[in-house]
Amino acid sequence: MVEKDDWRLLVNNGESLRKACVNPTDGEEIYKYAPQLKKCVFCFAPVHNTPHQWWFIPIDLSCCICEDCFNDFKEMFEWKKLDGWDIDWRD
Ligand SMILES: [Zn+2]
Repeated sequence: MVEKDDWRLLVNNGESLRKACVNPTDGEEIYKYAPQLKKCVFCFAPVHNTPHQWWFIPIDLSCCICEDCFNDFKEMFEWKKLDGWDIDWRD
């Protein structure tokens, strides 16, 4: 369980992501299609160009969330995980 004073919530309180629908993707896809996203919006973990690093990305592609932060905060922010097949990278 994550504490409300977790340091990552000081970086980003997550309110803009409350109840967001997020798609799972990987570092390679972000690197290729959304290179402006370089790190986790909460913990600043860097995006690596690899299919072995999982990421979660809201449908507006405004940021990316690393796997650890996704798992730690998904209940707190009531994120809805989509299937990842209909990411519209062109937006
Ligand atoms: Zn993170």
